Amino acid sequence: MQILLVEDDQALAQALTQTLRAEGFAVNHLARGNQAVDAAKTDMPDMVILDLGLPDIDGTDVLKALRKLSADLPVLILTARSTLEDKVIGLDLGADDYLAKPFEVDELLARLRVFERRASTLKHAGLSIGNVRLDSASHQVFVDDENIELSRREFMVLKALMENAGRVQTRDALESKLYSWGEEVASNTVEVHIHHLRKKLPDHFIQTLRGIGYIIKPS
Ligand code: CA
Repeated sequence: MQILLVEDDQALAQALTQTLRAEGFAVNHLARGNQAVDAAKTDMPDMVILDLGLPDIDGTDVLKALRKLSADLPVLILTARSTLEDKVIGLDLGADDYLAKPFEVDELLARLRVFERRASTLKHAGLSIGNVRLDSASHQVFVDDENIELSRREFMVLKALMENAGRVQTRDALESKLYSWGEEVASNTVEVHIHHLRKKLPDHFIQTLRGIGYIIKPS
């Protein structure tokens, strides 16, 4: 899950980024609203945490712009304006949830997990190809009904490939799902995840297109 965090309070942003990364999310942080809209145009995140009080444009305008780009992108509004009026404005504009500062990190994580569950039940509750079944809601993978252990990143790679069955996924595309911008990524990281996945999955389930990327053929 790639989260775009739009927050101009550097200390808060840093703390949140650290916490969310520790929870296994890929987090990209921007302090300005215009940057966030531009970023979403080129690299649509899986969810957005959006502060309303931003230095350049108002967070509500960012929300409107994001909604134009994607009707179902989950957006959690974060704001010091804790009045009911602001809450209603945010939800009217299409925010999915709302958290007033100061808040507990656990509360934020709970809301994000709801987003994650909602996104996966909506899109691909159960994804089956051949004898492999991936359950996004519970983060479990089964081969012939046997639950196999995957690391979070292995799971993300497999999920991306299964969701896009029949379409080649380049190494760059897979990397962008796993890591935050600017995060140091060893050049062979995706290969390493694929290598580990292959040991746990049926033979030839993941195919390599040399120099291009990887593909899972639909059943
Ligand atoms: Ca602010």
